[in-house]
Amino acid sequence: MAIQRDMGKAAAVRRTGEVPRWHHEADVVVVGFGAAGACAAIEAAEAGRDALVLERASGGGGTSALSTGQIYLGGGTPIQKACGFEDSAEEMFKYLMASCGPGADEAKIRMYCDQSVAHYDWLVRHGVPFKQSFYGEGSYTPTDDCLSYSGSELAHPYCELARPAPRGHTVQQEGIEAGSMLMRALCAATEKSGARILVDCLVQTLVLDDAGQVVGVLMKREGAEEYVHARQGVILCAGGFINNKEMVNRYAPLLRKCRFRAASDGDDGRGIRMGMGAGGAAIRMDVGCIVLPFTVPKQLIKGILVNRRGMRFINEDVYQTTVGEAALLRENGEVFLILDNDIFERPFAPAEIAAVEGSVAELEKALAMPEGSLQNTVEVYNRHAARGEDPLFRKARDYLKPLVTPPFAAIDYTTKNSLYTVFTLGGLHTLPTGQVLTPDGEVIPGLYAAGRTTSGLAAQGYSSGLSLADGTFFGRMAGRHAVGLAVPA
Ligand SMILES: Cc1cc2nc3c(=O)[nH]c(=O)nc-3n(C[C@H](O)[C@H](O)[C@H](O)COP(=O)(O)OP(=O)(O)OC[C@H]3O[C@@H](n4cnc5c(N)ncnc54)[C@H](O)[C@@H]3O)c2cc1C
Repeated sequence: MAIQRDMGKAAAVRRTGEVPRWHHEADVVVVGFGAAGACAAIEAAEAGRDALVLERASGGGGTSALSTGQIYLGGGTPIQKACGFEDSAEEMFKYLMASCGPGADEAKIRMYCDQSVAHYDWLVRHGVPFKQSFYGEGSYTPTDDCLSYSGSELAHPYCELARPAPRGHTVQQEGIEAGSMLMRALCAATEKSGARILVDCLVQTLVLDDAGQVVGVLMKREGAEEYVHARQGVILCAGGFINNKEMVNRYAPLLRKCRFRAASDGDDGRGIRMGMGAGGAAIRMDVGCIVLPFTVPKQLIKGILVNRRGMRFINEDVYQTTVGEAALLRENGEVFLILDNDIFERPFAPAEIAAVEGSVAELEKALAMPEGSLQNTVEVYNRHAARGEDPLFRKARDYLKPLVTPPFAAIDYTTKNSLYTVFTLGGLHTLPTGQVLTPDGEVIPGLYAAGRTTSGLAAQGYSSGLSLADGTFFGRMAGRHAVGLAVPA
Protein backbone atom coordinates (compact mmCIF):
# COMPACT_ATOMS: atom_id res chain seq x y z
CA MET A 1 0.00 0.00 0.00
CA ALA A 2 1.55 3.34 -1.02
CA ILE A 3 1.71 5.79 1.87
CA GLN A 4 2.54 9.42 1.19
CA ARG A 5 4.98 10.65 3.81
CA ASP A 6 4.86 14.42 3.33
CA MET A 7 4.28 15.80 6.85
CA GLY A 8 3.71 19.51 6.06
CA LYS A 9 2.31 21.87 8.68
CA ALA A 10 -0.97 20.33 9.70
CA ALA A 11 -1.75 22.88 12.38
CA ALA A 12 -1.36 25.88 10.06
CA VAL A 13 -4.89 26.36 8.74
CA ARG A 14 -5.78 28.02 5.44
CA ARG A 15 -8.41 30.74 5.09
CA THR A 16 -11.06 30.77 2.37
CA GLY A 17 -9.43 33.88 0.92
CA GLU A 18 -6.36 31.74 0.15
CA VAL A 19 -8.35 29.12 -1.79
CA PRO A 20 -7.83 29.61 -5.54
CA ARG A 21 -10.73 27.24 -6.35
CA TRP A 22 -12.51 24.26 -4.87
CA HIS A 23 -11.42 21.13 -6.71
CA HIS A 24 -14.04 18.91 -5.04
CA GLU A 25 -17.23 19.45 -3.07
CA ALA A 26 -19.37 17.36 -0.75
CA ASP A 27 -21.84 17.82 2.07
CA VAL A 28 -19.58 16.01 4.50
CA VAL A 29 -15.86 15.36 4.11
CA VAL A 30 -14.47 12.46 6.13
CA VAL A 31 -10.70 12.32 6.64
CA GLY A 32 -9.49 8.72 7.01
CA PHE A 33 -11.04 5.40 6.00
CA GLY A 34 -10.56 3.24 9.08
CA ALA A 35 -13.39 2.07 11.34
CA ALA A 36 -14.35 5.59 12.50
CA GLY A 37 -14.26 7.11 9.02
CA ALA A 38 -16.25 4.28 7.45
CA CYS A 39 -19.00 4.49 10.08
CA ALA A 40 -19.19 8.30 9.83
CA ALA A 41 -19.49 8.14 6.04
CA ILE A 42 -22.12 5.38 6.10
CA GLU A 43 -24.41 7.38 8.42
CA ALA A 44 -24.05 10.58 6.38
CA ALA A 45 -24.55 8.84 3.03
CA GLU A 46 -27.51 6.76 4.22
CA ALA A 47 -29.18 10.04 5.21
CA GLY A 48 -29.06 10.94 1.52
CA ARG A 49 -26.15 13.37 1.80
CA ASP A 50 -23.09 13.53 -0.39
CA ALA A 51 -20.30 12.08 1.77
CA LEU A 52 -16.72 12.08 0.52
CA VAL A 53 -14.02 9.98 2.22
CA LEU A 54 -10.38 11.00 1.74
CA GLU A 55 -7.78 8.35 2.58
CA ARG A 56 -4.01 8.76 2.41
CA ALA A 57 -3.29 5.06 1.76
CA SER A 58 -4.30 3.23 -1.42
CA GLY A 59 -7.30 1.64 0.22
CA GLY A 60 -9.45 1.61 3.34
CA GLY A 61 -8.57 -0.24 6.54
CA GLY A 62 -6.13 1.77 8.64
CA THR A 63 -5.06 0.36 11.98
CA SER A 64 -8.57 -1.05 12.36
CA ALA A 65 -7.79 -3.64 9.68
CA LEU A 66 -4.65 -4.76 11.56
CA SER A 67 -6.48 -5.22 14.84
CA THR A 68 -7.77 -8.35 16.49
CA GLY A 69 -11.30 -7.13 15.77
CA GLN A 70 -12.67 -7.16 19.29
CA ILE A 71 -15.40 -4.61 20.05
CA TYR A 72 -16.55 -3.82 23.59
CA LEU A 73 -20.36 -4.21 23.52
CA GLY A 74 -22.84 -5.09 26.24
CA GLY A 75 -26.03 -4.33 28.06
CA GLY A 76 -27.62 -7.59 26.86
CA THR A 77 -26.52 -8.14 23.25
CA PRO A 78 -28.02 -11.15 21.42
CA ILE A 79 -24.65 -12.93 21.73
CA GLN A 80 -24.49 -12.35 25.49
CA LYS A 81 -28.03 -13.69 25.79
CA ALA A 82 -27.40 -16.69 23.53
CA CYS A 83 -24.34 -17.60 25.62
CA GLY A 84 -26.30 -17.33 28.86
CA PHE A 85 -24.83 -14.13 30.29
CA GLU A 86 -26.97 -11.53 31.99
CA ASP A 87 -25.97 -7.90 31.46
CA SER A 88 -27.55 -4.47 31.53
CA ALA A 89 -26.62 -0.97 30.40
CA GLU A 90 -26.40 0.02 34.06
CA GLU A 91 -23.88 -2.70 35.03
CA MET A 92 -21.81 -1.91 31.95
CA PHE A 93 -21.91 1.79 32.88
CA LYS A 94 -20.76 1.04 36.42
CA TYR A 95 -17.85 -1.05 35.16
CA LEU A 96 -16.68 1.48 32.58
CA MET A 97 -16.98 4.42 34.98
CA ALA A 98 -14.87 2.53 37.52
CA SER A 99 -12.25 1.28 35.07
CA CYS A 100 -11.91 4.09 32.49
CA GLY A 101 -10.89 6.80 34.92
CA PRO A 102 -9.97 8.90 36.65
CA GLY A 103 -11.67 11.57 34.60
CA ALA A 104 -13.75 9.20 32.48
CA ASP A 105 -16.13 10.99 30.10
CA GLU A 106 -19.44 10.18 31.74
CA ALA A 107 -21.60 11.53 28.90
CA LYS A 108 -19.86 9.33 26.32
CA ILE A 109 -19.92 6.27 28.56
CA ARG A 110 -23.60 6.77 29.39
CA MET A 111 -24.58 7.15 25.74
CA TYR A 112 -22.46 4.20 24.66
CA CYS A 113 -23.86 1.86 27.31
CA ASP A 114 -27.46 2.87 26.59
CA GLN A 115 -26.95 2.41 22.83
CA SER A 116 -24.69 -0.62 22.87
CA VAL A 117 -27.31 -3.22 21.90
CA ALA A 118 -28.60 -0.97 19.09
CA HIS A 119 -25.00 -0.45 17.96
CA TYR A 120 -24.47 -4.22 17.82
CA ASP A 121 -27.60 -4.49 15.63
CA TRP A 122 -26.32 -1.68 13.39
CA LEU A 123 -22.98 -3.45 12.91
CA VAL A 124 -24.71 -6.72 12.04
CA ARG A 125 -27.07 -4.92 9.62
CA HIS A 126 -23.98 -3.51 7.92
CA GLY A 127 -22.44 -6.92 7.36
CA VAL A 128 -20.18 -7.40 10.40
CA PRO A 129 -20.37 -11.11 11.35
CA PHE A 130 -20.38 -12.38 14.95
CA LYS A 131 -20.65 -16.03 15.95
CA GLN A 132 -22.98 -16.93 18.80
CA SER A 133 -20.28 -18.44 20.98
CA PHE A 134 -18.27 -17.85 24.15
CA TYR A 135 -14.49 -18.13 24.00
CA GLY A 136 -13.28 -17.27 27.50
CA GLU A 137 -10.96 -14.51 28.59
CA GLY A 138 -8.56 -12.09 26.97
CA SER A 139 -8.11 -9.99 23.89
CA TYR A 140 -6.86 -12.75 21.60
CA THR A 141 -9.41 -15.12 20.14
CA PRO A 142 -7.46 -17.53 17.95
CA THR A 143 -10.66 -19.29 16.85
CA ASP A 144 -13.67 -17.72 15.11
CA ASP A 145 -15.48 -17.47 18.46
CA CYS A 146 -16.97 -14.24 19.70
CA LEU A 147 -17.50 -13.45 23.34
CA SER A 148 -14.85 -13.04 26.03
CA TYR A 149 -14.02 -11.15 29.19
CA SER A 150 -11.79 -8.51 27.66
CA GLY A 151 -11.19 -6.32 30.69
CA SER A 152 -10.91 -6.55 34.45
CA GLU A 153 -14.59 -7.39 35.03
CA LEU A 154 -13.80 -10.50 37.12
CA ALA A 155 -11.05 -8.91 39.21
CA HIS A 156 -10.96 -6.80 42.35
CA PRO A 157 -12.19 -4.10 42.75
CA TYR A 158 -14.35 -4.14 39.61
CA CYS A 159 -16.14 -7.40 40.37
CA GLU A 160 -17.44 -5.80 43.55
CA LEU A 161 -18.51 -2.57 41.85
CA ALA A 162 -20.42 -4.04 38.89
CA ARG A 163 -21.89 -7.45 38.10
CA PRO A 164 -19.32 -9.03 35.75
CA ALA A 165 -20.26 -9.93 32.19
CA PRO A 166 -18.11 -10.73 29.16
CA ARG A 167 -18.37 -7.84 26.70
CA GLY A 168 -15.50 -8.35 24.24
CA HIS A 169 -17.25 -9.21 20.93
CA THR A 170 -14.71 -10.45 18.37
CA VAL A 171 -15.72 -10.34 14.73
CA GLN A 172 -16.10 -13.82 13.28
CA GLN A 173 -12.91 -14.89 11.56
CA GLU A 174 -10.49 -17.72 12.22
CA GLY A 175 -7.16 -16.39 13.62
CA ILE A 176 -6.25 -13.32 15.63
CA GLU A 177 -6.60 -10.71 12.90
CA ALA A 178 -10.36 -10.38 12.79
CA GLY A 179 -9.96 -6.63 12.20
CA SER A 180 -9.43 -7.40 8.52
CA MET A 181 -12.90 -8.97 8.38
CA LEU A 182 -14.39 -6.01 10.25
CA MET A 183 -12.92 -3.58 7.74
CA ARG A 184 -13.86 -5.71 4.72
CA ALA A 185 -17.45 -5.49 5.94
CA LEU A 186 -17.35 -1.76 6.77
CA CYS A 187 -15.58 -0.82 3.51
CA ALA A 188 -18.21 -2.76 1.53
CA ALA A 189 -21.00 -1.08 3.50
CA THR A 190 -19.44 2.35 2.83
CA GLU A 191 -19.40 1.70 -0.92
CA LYS A 192 -22.98 0.41 -0.78
CA SER A 193 -24.11 3.52 1.11
CA GLY A 194 -23.22 5.70 -1.86
CA ALA A 195 -20.39 7.54 -0.13
CA ARG A 196 -17.61 8.52 -2.50
CA ILE A 197 -14.06 7.41 -1.67
CA LEU A 198 -10.84 8.99 -2.89
CA VAL A 199 -7.59 7.20 -2.00
CA ASP A 200 -3.94 8.30 -2.12
CA CYS A 201 -5.05 11.70 -0.78
CA LEU A 202 -2.97 13.08 2.06
CA VAL A 203 -5.13 15.64 3.83
CA GLN A 204 -2.80 18.36 5.03
CA THR A 205 -4.81 20.95 6.86
CA LEU A 206 -8.23 22.51 7.40
CA VAL A 207 -9.75 25.50 5.65
CA LEU A 208 -11.64 28.03 7.81
CA ASP A 209 -13.86 30.91 6.75
CA ASP A 210 -13.59 34.36 8.29
CA ALA A 211 -16.09 33.47 11.03
CA GLY A 212 -13.91 30.54 12.14
CA GLN A 213 -16.18 27.85 10.66
CA VAL A 214 -14.42 24.82 9.17
CA VAL A 215 -15.49 24.71 5.51
CA GLY A 216 -13.04 22.35 3.86
CA VAL A 217 -9.62 20.76 3.67
CA LEU A 218 -6.45 21.06 1.69
CA MET A 219 -5.04 17.78 0.42
CA LYS A 220 -2.12 16.60 -1.63
CA ARG A 221 -2.96 14.26 -4.46
CA GLU A 222 -0.61 13.07 -7.18
CA GLY A 223 1.89 15.70 -6.06
CA ALA A 224 -0.53 18.62 -6.40
CA GLU A 225 -2.52 20.63 -3.85
CA GLU A 226 -6.30 20.32 -4.12
CA TYR A 227 -9.00 22.03 -2.06
CA VAL A 228 -12.12 20.18 -0.96
CA HIS A 229 -15.22 22.12 0.08
CA ALA A 230 -17.35 20.65 2.89
CA ARG A 231 -20.83 22.20 2.88
CA GLN A 232 -21.90 20.69 6.23
CA GLY A 233 -18.81 19.56 8.05
CA VAL A 234 -15.39 17.92 8.14
CA ILE A 235 -15.00 14.76 10.25
CA LEU A 236 -11.43 13.94 11.31
CA CYS A 237 -10.99 10.15 11.66
CA ALA A 238 -7.26 10.00 10.99
CA GLY A 239 -6.04 7.76 13.84
CA GLY A 240 -3.75 8.46 16.81
CA PHE A 241 -0.14 9.67 17.17
CA ILE A 242 2.04 6.82 18.44
CA ASN A 243 4.05 6.91 15.19
CA ASN A 244 4.95 10.59 15.60
CA LYS A 245 8.15 10.55 17.63
CA GLU A 246 8.13 14.30 18.31
CA MET A 247 4.54 14.27 19.55
CA VAL A 248 5.16 11.25 21.78
CA ASN A 249 8.29 12.92 23.18
CA ARG A 250 6.30 16.06 23.90
CA TYR A 251 3.10 14.58 25.33
CA ALA A 252 3.74 11.02 26.47
CA PRO A 253 7.47 10.36 26.76
CA LEU A 254 7.12 7.22 28.88
CA LEU A 255 5.23 5.50 26.06
CA ARG A 256 8.42 5.53 24.00
CA LYS A 257 9.76 2.79 26.25
CA CYS A 258 7.22 0.31 24.80
CA ARG A 259 8.81 -1.66 22.00
CA PHE A 260 5.72 -2.63 19.98
CA ARG A 261 3.60 0.20 18.59
CA ALA A 262 0.14 -1.14 17.75
CA ALA A 263 -0.46 1.18 14.86
CA SER A 264 -0.13 1.87 11.15
CA ASP A 265 1.78 4.63 9.34
CA GLY A 266 -1.32 6.82 9.45
CA ASP A 267 -1.03 7.15 13.24
CA ASP A 268 1.22 10.18 12.88
CA GLY A 269 -0.96 12.64 14.79
CA ARG A 270 -1.83 14.74 11.77
CA GLY A 271 -5.57 14.57 12.44
CA ILE A 272 -5.09 15.79 16.01
CA ARG A 273 -2.78 18.60 14.91
CA MET A 274 -5.24 19.69 12.21
CA GLY A 275 -7.94 19.98 14.86
CA MET A 276 -5.60 21.86 17.21
CA GLY A 277 -4.79 24.29 14.42
CA ALA A 278 -8.48 25.12 14.12
CA GLY A 279 -8.62 25.84 17.87
CA GLY A 280 -9.49 22.36 19.15
CA ALA A 281 -8.35 21.26 22.60
CA ALA A 282 -6.28 18.07 22.80
CA ILE A 283 -6.80 16.25 26.09
CA ARG A 284 -5.40 13.19 27.87
CA MET A 285 -2.42 13.32 25.56
CA ASP A 286 -0.22 11.45 28.03
CA VAL A 287 -2.49 8.39 28.10
CA GLY A 288 -1.88 5.18 26.21
CA CYS A 289 -3.24 1.67 26.01
CA ILE A 290 -0.22 -0.15 27.44
CA VAL A 291 -0.32 -3.93 27.22
CA LEU A 292 1.98 -6.15 29.24
CA PRO A 293 1.14 -9.47 27.58
CA PHE A 294 1.91 -12.00 30.31
CA THR A 295 -1.45 -13.72 30.84
CA VAL A 296 -1.23 -16.44 28.18
CA PRO A 297 -1.14 -19.20 29.29
CA LYS A 298 -3.54 -18.26 32.09
CA GLN A 299 -1.56 -20.39 34.53
CA LEU A 300 1.01 -17.57 34.71
CA ILE A 301 -1.47 -15.38 36.60
CA LYS A 302 -0.70 -17.68 39.56
CA GLY A 303 2.75 -16.11 39.68
CA ILE A 304 3.48 -12.79 41.35
CA LEU A 305 4.64 -9.59 39.66
CA VAL A 306 7.30 -7.69 41.58
CA ASN A 307 9.26 -4.52 41.01
CA ARG A 308 13.03 -4.02 41.28
CA ARG A 309 12.66 -3.80 45.07
CA GLY A 310 11.10 -7.26 45.20
CA MET A 311 7.66 -5.90 46.09
CA ARG A 312 4.28 -6.74 44.57
CA PHE A 313 2.36 -3.76 43.18
CA ILE A 314 -0.94 -5.10 41.79
CA ASN A 315 -3.36 -8.05 41.77
CA GLU A 316 -2.02 -10.06 38.83
CA ASP A 317 -5.52 -11.03 37.61
CA VAL A 318 -6.54 -7.54 36.44
CA TYR A 319 -6.52 -7.03 32.70
CA GLN A 320 -3.10 -6.89 31.06
CA THR A 321 -3.56 -3.22 30.10
CA THR A 322 -4.16 -2.27 33.74
CA VAL A 323 -1.03 -4.24 34.64
CA GLY A 324 0.83 -2.55 31.77
CA GLU A 325 -0.15 0.92 32.98
CA ALA A 326 0.90 0.16 36.56
CA ALA A 327 4.16 -1.48 35.48
CA LEU A 328 5.19 1.32 33.11
CA LEU A 329 3.85 4.40 34.86
CA ARG A 330 4.41 3.43 38.50
CA GLU A 331 7.36 1.02 38.26
CA ASN A 332 9.12 2.60 35.28
CA GLY A 333 8.70 -0.60 33.27
CA GLU A 334 11.01 -2.59 35.57
CA VAL A 335 9.07 -5.66 36.69
CA PHE A 336 9.49 -9.44 36.93
CA LEU A 337 7.06 -12.34 37.10
CA ILE A 338 8.08 -14.84 39.79
CA LEU A 339 7.06 -18.48 39.28
CA ASP A 340 7.80 -21.78 40.98
CA ASN A 341 8.28 -25.09 39.22
CA ASP A 342 4.62 -26.15 39.66
CA ILE A 343 3.23 -23.26 37.69
CA PHE A 344 6.09 -22.54 35.31
CA GLU A 345 5.23 -22.35 31.62
CA ARG A 346 6.78 -20.39 28.80
CA PRO A 347 4.76 -17.24 28.07
CA PHE A 348 3.04 -17.07 24.67
CA ALA A 349 4.31 -13.53 23.96
CA PRO A 350 8.09 -13.08 23.62
CA ALA A 351 9.81 -12.65 27.01
CA GLU A 352 13.15 -13.70 28.41
CA ILE A 353 13.90 -15.65 31.57
CA ALA A 354 15.93 -13.36 33.82
CA ALA A 355 17.02 -16.06 36.29
CA VAL A 356 16.29 -19.58 37.53
CA GLU A 357 17.52 -20.49 41.02
CA GLY A 358 17.08 -23.20 43.62
CA SER A 359 15.69 -20.86 46.30
CA VAL A 360 13.91 -17.52 46.57
CA ALA A 361 16.96 -16.10 48.36
CA GLU A 362 19.20 -17.02 45.42
CA LEU A 363 16.67 -15.61 42.95
CA GLU A 364 16.58 -12.35 44.91
CA LYS A 365 20.38 -12.17 44.73
CA ALA A 366 20.48 -12.98 41.01
CA LEU A 367 18.01 -10.14 40.36
CA ALA A 368 20.11 -7.74 42.50
CA MET A 369 17.16 -7.01 44.77
CA PRO A 370 17.70 -5.73 48.34
CA GLU A 371 18.44 -8.60 50.68
CA GLY A 372 15.28 -10.03 52.22
CA SER A 373 12.89 -8.05 49.99
CA LEU A 374 11.73 -10.78 47.62
CA GLN A 375 11.98 -13.42 50.36
CA ASN A 376 9.68 -11.35 52.53
CA THR A 377 7.22 -10.76 49.65
CA VAL A 378 7.04 -14.48 48.82
CA GLU A 379 6.73 -15.47 52.48
CA VAL A 380 3.79 -13.09 53.07
CA TYR A 381 2.14 -14.08 49.77
CA ASN A 382 2.51 -17.81 50.47
CA ARG A 383 1.22 -17.56 54.04
CA HIS A 384 -2.05 -15.99 52.88
CA ALA A 385 -2.32 -17.88 49.57
CA ALA A 386 -2.30 -21.15 51.52
CA ARG A 387 -5.62 -19.97 53.03
CA GLY A 388 -6.93 -18.79 49.64
CA GLU A 389 -6.49 -15.14 50.55
CA ASP A 390 -4.60 -12.13 49.23
CA PRO A 391 -5.17 -9.36 51.77
CA LEU A 392 -2.70 -7.03 50.07
CA PHE A 393 -4.15 -6.92 46.55
CA ARG A 394 -7.10 -9.35 46.59
CA LYS A 395 -6.21 -11.53 43.64
CA ALA A 396 -9.04 -14.02 43.01
CA ARG A 397 -8.88 -17.31 44.90
CA ASP A 398 -8.57 -19.34 41.63
CA TYR A 399 -5.14 -17.85 41.04
CA LEU A 400 -3.77 -18.19 44.56
CA LYS A 401 -1.21 -20.93 45.11
CA PRO A 402 1.82 -20.74 47.38
CA LEU A 403 5.12 -20.57 45.46
CA VAL A 404 7.04 -23.34 47.21
CA THR A 405 8.39 -25.81 44.65
CA PRO A 406 11.95 -25.16 43.43
CA PRO A 407 13.43 -24.15 41.12
CA PHE A 408 12.09 -20.59 41.09
CA ALA A 409 12.12 -18.49 37.93
CA ALA A 410 11.87 -14.79 37.15
CA ILE A 411 10.47 -13.81 33.75
CA ASP A 412 11.90 -10.51 32.59
CA TYR A 413 9.11 -8.00 32.03
CA THR A 414 11.28 -4.93 31.81
CA THR A 415 10.48 -2.70 28.85
CA LYS A 416 13.98 -3.33 27.53
CA ASN A 417 13.61 -7.09 27.30
CA SER A 418 9.92 -7.75 26.66
CA LEU A 419 7.25 -6.62 24.27
CA TYR A 420 5.10 -3.97 25.89
CA THR A 421 2.49 -2.97 23.30
CA VAL A 422 1.16 0.56 23.05
CA PHE A 423 -1.08 2.98 21.19
CA THR A 424 -2.20 6.47 22.20
CA LEU A 425 -5.58 7.24 23.77
CA GLY A 426 -5.35 11.04 23.95
CA GLY A 427 -6.70 13.34 21.29
CA LEU A 428 -9.20 16.02 20.43
CA HIS A 429 -11.80 16.86 23.05
CA THR A 430 -15.21 16.09 21.58
CA LEU A 431 -18.82 15.94 22.66
CA PRO A 432 -20.60 12.60 22.23
CA THR A 433 -21.90 14.10 18.96
CA GLY A 434 -18.32 14.26 17.69
CA GLN A 435 -18.24 18.07 17.72
CA VAL A 436 -14.75 19.31 18.53
CA LEU A 437 -14.39 21.67 21.49
CA THR A 438 -12.01 24.55 22.14
CA PRO A 439 -10.09 24.74 25.45
CA ASP A 440 -12.99 26.94 26.70
CA GLY A 441 -15.53 24.23 25.84
CA GLU A 442 -16.99 26.05 22.82
CA VAL A 443 -18.02 24.04 19.76
CA ILE A 444 -15.93 24.71 16.65
CA PRO A 445 -18.52 25.07 13.91
CA GLY A 446 -18.18 22.57 11.08
CA LEU A 447 -15.55 20.40 12.82
CA TYR A 448 -16.06 16.83 14.03
CA ALA A 449 -13.71 14.03 15.05
CA ALA A 450 -13.93 10.37 16.07
CA GLY A 451 -11.85 7.30 16.83
CA ARG A 452 -8.23 7.59 17.95
CA THR A 453 -8.06 11.19 16.74
CA THR A 454 -10.08 11.90 19.89
CA SER A 455 -9.98 11.15 23.58
CA GLY A 456 -12.82 8.65 23.87
CA LEU A 457 -14.38 6.20 26.30
CA ALA A 458 -11.16 5.31 28.08
CA ALA A 459 -9.63 8.40 29.66
CA GLN A 460 -7.21 5.90 31.20
CA GLY A 461 -7.62 2.23 32.15
CA TYR A 462 -8.36 0.35 28.96
CA SER A 463 -10.40 -2.78 28.33
CA SER A 464 -9.90 -4.49 25.01
CA GLY A 465 -12.46 -3.52 22.41
CA LEU A 466 -12.95 0.06 23.59
CA SER A 467 -11.00 1.59 20.74
CA LEU A 468 -13.08 -0.03 18.01
CA ALA A 469 -16.12 0.84 20.12
CA ASP A 470 -15.02 4.49 20.08
CA GLY A 471 -14.37 4.48 16.37
CA THR A 472 -17.45 2.65 15.17
CA PHE A 473 -19.99 4.24 17.53
CA PHE A 474 -18.77 7.84 17.82
CA GLY A 475 -17.87 7.83 14.11
CA ARG A 476 -21.54 7.10 13.49
CA MET A 477 -22.65 9.84 15.87
CA ALA A 478 -20.40 12.40 14.14
CA GLY A 479 -21.74 11.39 10.72
CA ARG A 480 -25.32 11.75 11.96
CA HIS A 481 -24.85 15.07 13.69
CA ALA A 482 -22.97 16.60 10.76
CA VAL A 483 -25.97 16.05 8.48
CA GLY A 484 -28.53 17.15 11.06
CA LEU A 485 -29.82 13.71 12.08
CA ALA A 486 -30.82 13.05 15.69
CA VAL A 487 -28.16 11.66 17.99
CA PRO A 488 -29.51 9.65 20.93
CA ALA A 489 -29.39 11.60 24.19
C1 LIG B 1 -2.37 -5.51 16.43
C2 LIG B 1 -3.47 -4.62 16.93
C3 LIG B 1 -4.55 -5.18 17.58
C4 LIG B 1 -5.59 -4.36 18.04
N1 LIG B 1 -6.70 -4.95 18.56
C5 LIG B 1 -7.76 -4.18 18.91
C6 LIG B 1 -8.99 -4.78 19.29
O1 LIG B 1 -9.17 -5.99 19.22
N2 LIG B 1 -10.00 -3.95 19.69
C7 LIG B 1 -9.87 -2.59 19.71
O2 LIG B 1 -10.82 -1.91 20.10
N3 LIG B 1 -8.73 -2.00 19.31
C8 LIG B 1 -7.69 -2.75 18.87
N4 LIG B 1 -6.55 -2.16 18.42
C9 LIG B 1 -6.52 -0.69 18.33
C10 LIG B 1 -7.43 -0.26 17.17
O3 LIG B 1 -7.19 -1.06 16.05
C11 LIG B 1 -7.27 1.20 16.78
O4 LIG B 1 -7.13 2.03 17.91
C12 LIG B 1 -8.51 1.63 15.97
O5 LIG B 1 -8.64 0.75 14.88
C13 LIG B 1 -8.43 3.06 15.51
O6 LIG B 1 -9.48 3.29 14.60
P1 LIG B 1 -9.58 4.66 13.81
O7 LIG B 1 -10.70 4.56 12.85
O8 LIG B 1 -9.56 5.77 14.78
O9 LIG B 1 -8.18 4.77 13.04
P2 LIG B 1 -7.64 3.91 11.81
O10 LIG B 1 -8.32 2.61 11.67
O11 LIG B 1 -6.16 3.89 11.90
O12 LIG B 1 -8.06 4.80 10.56
C14 LIG B 1 -7.45 6.04 10.32
C15 LIG B 1 -7.28 6.21 8.81
O13 LIG B 1 -6.92 7.54 8.52
C16 LIG B 1 -5.94 7.56 7.53
N5 LIG B 1 -5.23 8.85 7.60
C17 LIG B 1 -4.38 9.25 8.59
N6 LIG B 1 -3.96 10.49 8.34
C18 LIG B 1 -4.56 10.88 7.18
C19 LIG B 1 -4.49 12.08 6.41
N7 LIG B 1 -3.75 13.12 6.78
N8 LIG B 1 -5.20 12.14 5.25
C20 LIG B 1 -5.97 11.10 4.85
N9 LIG B 1 -6.05 9.94 5.55
C21 LIG B 1 -5.36 9.84 6.71
C22 LIG B 1 -5.10 6.35 7.83
O14 LIG B 1 -4.34 5.93 6.71
C23 LIG B 1 -6.18 5.33 8.25
O15 LIG B 1 -6.66 4.60 7.14
C24 LIG B 1 -5.51 -2.94 17.91
C25 LIG B 1 -4.42 -2.38 17.22
C26 LIG B 1 -3.42 -3.22 16.71
C27 LIG B 1 -2.33 -2.61 15.89
